[in-house]
Amino acid sequence: MSSESLANLLKEERRFPPPAEVAAAANVTAESYARATADRLAFWAEQARRLTWSTTPQETLDWSNPPFAKWFADGELNVAYNCVDRHVEAGLGDRVAIHFEGEPGDTRTLTYAELQQEVCKAANALTSLGVEAGDRVAIYMPMIPETVVAMLACARVGAPHSVVFGGFSADALATRIEDADARVVITADGGYRRGKPNALKPAVDEAVSRTPNVRNVLVVRRTGQPVDWTEGRDLWWHETVDGQSAEHTPRAFPAEHPLFILYTSGTTGKPKGILHTSGGYLTQVAYTHHAVFDLKPETDVYWCTADVGWVTGHSYIVYGPLANGATEVLYEGTPDTPHQGRWWEIVQKYGVTILYTAPTAIRTCMKWGDDIPARFDLSSLRILGSVGEPINPEAWVWYRRTIGADRTPVVDTWWQTETGAIMISPLPGVTAAKPGSAQVPLPGIAATVVDEEANEVPNGSGGYLVLSEPWPSMLRTIWGDDQRYLDTYWSRFENRYFAGDGAKKDEDGDIWLLGRVDDVMLVSGHNISTTEVESALVSHPKVAEAAVVGAADPTTGQAIVAFVILRGSAAEDDGLTEELRAHVGQALGPIAKPKRVLAVAELPKTRSGKIMRRLLRNVAENKELGDVTTLTDTTVMDLIQAKLPHAS
Ligand code: ATP
Ligand code: MG
Repeated sequence: MSSESLANLLKEERRFPPPAEVAAAANVTAESYARATADRLAFWAEQARRLTWSTTPQETLDWSNPPFAKWFADGELNVAYNCVDRHVEAGLGDRVAIHFEGEPGDTRTLTYAELQQEVCKAANALTSLGVEAGDRVAIYMPMIPETVVAMLACARVGAPHSVVFGGFSADALATRIEDADARVVITADGGYRRGKPNALKPAVDEAVSRTPNVRNVLVVRRTGQPVDWTEGRDLWWHETVDGQSAEHTPRAFPAEHPLFILYTSGTTGKPKGILHTSGGYLTQVAYTHHAVFDLKPETDVYWCTADVGWVTGHSYIVYGPLANGATEVLYEGTPDTPHQGRWWEIVQKYGVTILYTAPTAIRTCMKWGDDIPARFDLSSLRILGSVGEPINPEAWVWYRRTIGADRTPVVDTWWQTETGAIMISPLPGVTAAKPGSAQVPLPGIAATVVDEEANEVPNGSGGYLVLSEPWPSMLRTIWGDDQRYLDTYWSRFENRYFAGDGAKKDEDGDIWLLGRVDDVMLVSGHNISTTEVESALVSHPKVAEAAVVGAADPTTGQAIVAFVILRGSAAEDDGLTEELRAHVGQALGPIAKPKRVLAVAELPKTRSGKIMRRLLRNVAENKELGDVTTLTDTTVMDLIQAKLPHAS
C-alpha cells in the first residue's frame, strides 16, 4: 500500500440487532462483555480456569522476551484429557461427541466414553511404535472419526501432530513431512469424495520414499481399495490400535509444550509451518467457541464444515468443541454428493443448531439457488458462522435469510492459522450485526487499524490490521525459523503483530476486513480494496462470485480487472462489462469501476476455498504464475489464460 490510506468506499446501512431470545440467554451478555474487556490478563487467567490443570498456573503471561510469548507457563495439563476424559469423569460419558456422516451415507456415533476408549487405544499404539513426547507425527487423512482420534492420541502422548490436508499432492506432503521431521505418518487407504473412493495411500508411499526418517505408516481401512504395502513399515490401524488396552494414564505437560504444527493455506506465497502450544491455545479456542457460538453443550448440535487439514478444523472441530463437551457433526464428503442439498439434509437429520462454514461455500449455494435449501427443515438452526475470507454483504444477507430464516445471528469471524483462535467477531447476544463486517475484537483481544507510520487511524479510515497485545493462542514461532517469525509478523510495526490484512474502521469504530495488503490496488493514486469491489460485483443479480486484481496500467498505475462467475441463467454478452462497470460505479464511485470484466467458469482457489488473486494478477499482467501447489485445480488457470486476450 502507498502512504495514502485505503479508500473507504462501501456504504452498508443494514443492521441486525441480536434477537431478544438469543440476547436473553446468551453466554456473553452486554454486561459481562464490558467486565471482560476491563482487565485483559485477569480475563484470560479466569478463562484458563475453564480447563482442568494438574498444576494450576500462577503466572498468566511472560512477555519478557517479545515476541516470544509464554502463557500460563508454570501450569501443567493434558490437552486430550481436557477434551475427553474429564467429560466422562463428570458423568457425561453417554453424551454424543461425534455424529459421523460418511459421504456414501454410512454413519457412526461416538459418545464421549467411546471416544475416550479409542483415544486411549491409539495413544497406547503410538507408544508401542516408539513415539515419545516431542516426536512429530504427520496425519494425512479423510474426514473420519479416526482423524480426530489420531490428533487427540498425539496430544495425549505429547507428540505434536502436523495434519496435512488429504487433497494435497505427494510433493506437498513430502515437504511438510520433511520440514517437521515427522517419524510416523497416519493415513487411510482412501476416503470418499464426489461419490468415489479417493486414494490417499499412494501419495504417502511416494512422499515417504523421499523422507527416510519416517519409521512407520499407520493406515486406517476406510474404502477397502487396494494398497501397496511395505512390510515392516506399514501397519493397519485395526491391527495395531484395536487390540490395545483402553486404559491409558494421561501425562501432564507444561502449558508451553508444542501441540501441533500447521502450514498456512499458501494464499499469498509459500506456506509457513505455524507452531501452536498447549495451555494458552486450548484456553482461547474453548473460550471463543463458547462465546462466539453461544454454545450450550447440553442441547446444541454443532457443525463446522471445514476440513481438519485447516486451522478451522483444528480449533473448531477438534480442540474447541471437544474441550467444551459439545455434540458435533463430522461429514466426510462434498456438499453436492449425491445432490446439492446434502448439507441441508444433514442439518435436518441431526437437528444442527450451530453451523460454521466459509463464504466460498455460501456463494456456491447461492449460485445453486434458493429452492435447494427450501426443500429441507432448517428450523433447528440458531447461530450461523462464517470464516476464511471477507464475506460479501450480499452473501451474508442471503445466508441469514435463506439458511437462517431471517432470524439467526450471523457471526463473521476473523482469524488466521497464526492466531490459533477467533480474534474479531460479533457476539450473537451482544452485537448489532453489520453484514460484511467482523466488527469488534473479542474480550481479551487488542486489535486495531494503523496507517503506514503505525498511528491508529481515525474512524472512517482504512489501513493495516494489527494486533497490539499478545493473546493466549498466538503462534509461538514458525517451526524451525525464529527469524522468519520475526520478519513476517513483527518487523513491519514495532511491538505489534502485523496480520497482512487491510482493514478499515467505520464511523462507529467497527472493523471491516478489506483483503490482503498485497492485493490492494493503487488506481490513479487511490488505494482501493479488492473486497469492496468484489462485494459490489456480487451485489449485482447476475454475479455469483467475483475476484478483482490491480494490473499494471500505463495511465492509471494499476487498472482494476474483474473476473466474475455468472449466476445460473445469466449469459455473457457485449453489454455485460458496461452493465457491471456502471453497477460498481453506482455502489462505490467512478474510481472503483473495473477497466475490464471477464466472465469465467471458475476462479483459482486454494484447497481451503480462498481466492488466489496473485495468480489472476499474474495472468492479467502476462507473467509467470508462481507457486500453484496449494491450488485446488490447476486446469482452472489454463481456462482463464485462454480467455484473456494478451493485451497488455
Ligand atoms: P498464507 O498466509 O500462506 O498466504 P492464508 O493467509 O490464506 O495463507 P490462513 O491462515 O488459512 O492462510 O488464512 C487467514 C487469512 O484468511 C486471514 O489473514 C484473512 O486474510 C482471511 N480471513 C479469515 N477469516 C476472515 C474473515 N472473517 N474476514 C476477512 N478475512 C478473513
Ligand atoms: Mg496468512
